[in-house]
Amino acid sequence: MALENANTIPTAEVAHLIDLHLGDLCEQEPSWQVVDSPISGRGIFARRDIKRGELIFRERTLLNGPTASKDTVLNTCAVCFRLLDEDKALCAAGCALPICDACQQSGAHDMECKLFRYWVPKDTTRIVPYALRILSVMRCYFLCPEKRRLLLAMQANPDKYYKREVERAAECFENFPTDKETLGFFYRTVSVYNTNAFEGRSIVDGHETSVRALFALAGLMNHNCTPNVSHHFENAQTIVVTAARDIAQGEEITATYTKILWSTLARQLFLRGTKHFTCRCKRCLDPTENGTYLSALFCREQGCKGIVIPEHTKTLQPDWRCVTCDTVAPHAKMSRYQDFALNTINNRINTSTVHDLITFINDMCPRFCPPSNYVLVEAKLNVIWRMQRFKGDFTEEEVRHRDRYREEILEILEKLGAGDCTLKKLITNEIP
Ligand SMILES: [Zn+2]
Ligand SMILES: [Zn+2]
Ligand SMILES: [Zn+2]
Ligand SMILES: [Zn+2]
Repeated sequence: MALENANTIPTAEVAHLIDLHLGDLCEQEPSWQVVDSPISGRGIFARRDIKRGELIFRERTLLNGPTASKDTVLNTCAVCFRLLDEDKALCAAGCALPICDACQQSGAHDMECKLFRYWVPKDTTRIVPYALRILSVMRCYFLCPEKRRLLLAMQANPDKYYKREVERAAECFENFPTDKETLGFFYRTVSVYNTNAFEGRSIVDGHETSVRALFALAGLMNHNCTPNVSHHFENAQTIVVTAARDIAQGEEITATYTKILWSTLARQLFLRGTKHFTCRCKRCLDPTENGTYLSALFCREQGCKGIVIPEHTKTLQPDWRCVTCDTVAPHAKMSRYQDFALNTINNRINTSTVHDLITFINDMCPRFCPPSNYVLVEAKLNVIWRMQRFKGDFTEEEVRHRDRYREEILEILEKLGAGDCTLKKLITNEIP
């Protein structure tokens, strides 16, 4: 299927549609504007100098819905994301979606309820994940003409899977639409999600759930490996974008599409594979990544205790060079070594308790992985997340290790020049 090219809609029209979409959140004199970007397609640019910490914009979601992923609690209201009693979660009208009483009575769920019932769910006795996930897509039906046009203006890179989600959902209903136009609209919406979605956390009455959300303005932010904004969700509906550092007039406002602590090769592979472009930001061009050495592996030369890093940054298969003894190693060899470290550490992350993971990080990892390597840094981050999330009883020693990991990560972010980035705010608890 040919997805209509988003760039056929003029940038000036997109800017106008965004103002309409922002509604009461549209400021009189915004600090930003939407214009054509040298990075890719359109982008958001600073109209004036913006100070670190300054709010850039708030935006309500254009479309959203439950992710219905494996690790989410399915009995969560599909409209307001409140936790529901397991035995009273299903909508009383028979659409087989989890809906709370309040949303049922407010009418917020009426139209989608009707449509789901018209499609006739095959199983009305339980919440079916594929049927629940398609809700975030089928809600595109109910957008007003301006918002539909805005959705159409959003970038949609078809990946291998854009049809699968709709096909899986179709199997859950007796009467799922089969006409080309509707399916085309759904396919396009899935692609827009896959290209632009922000996976956000919604916390309602202490119940946390992950939400798949599409933001027309935030989605226009192009990528930089060290972005100049941070974002968080005020609730499941609203994203808040803030300057992570000072931004000069005319500078492009950028977010990151990868994890900020990944090594350059890991980021490049991800961007190439999922976003179909090669990043050429300052960080990508510096083999030391501002002296963080996030890619570093140990030198295998006898007697040398140095680290090796990729020599070039312009290829996905660089030679690697030891910063101490200058020995050059081929990429194939280093890539096997990196994969070994990644698998060994990820295995432990998935199977260990916090206590065992800390011991592994402190005692075992230094034998095969330099402390600056991103996989090891990610493992430390995992300890921080788990201790933040499961507020169990942790020993003083465990807390001390966590605090040290946090200091190390803050130091890396400082070297990267990441300012008050999203990750920094998350690990210092500035964002709940
Ligand atoms: Zn609700
Ligand atoms: Zn219903
Ligand atoms: Zn980059
Ligand atoms: Zn060496």
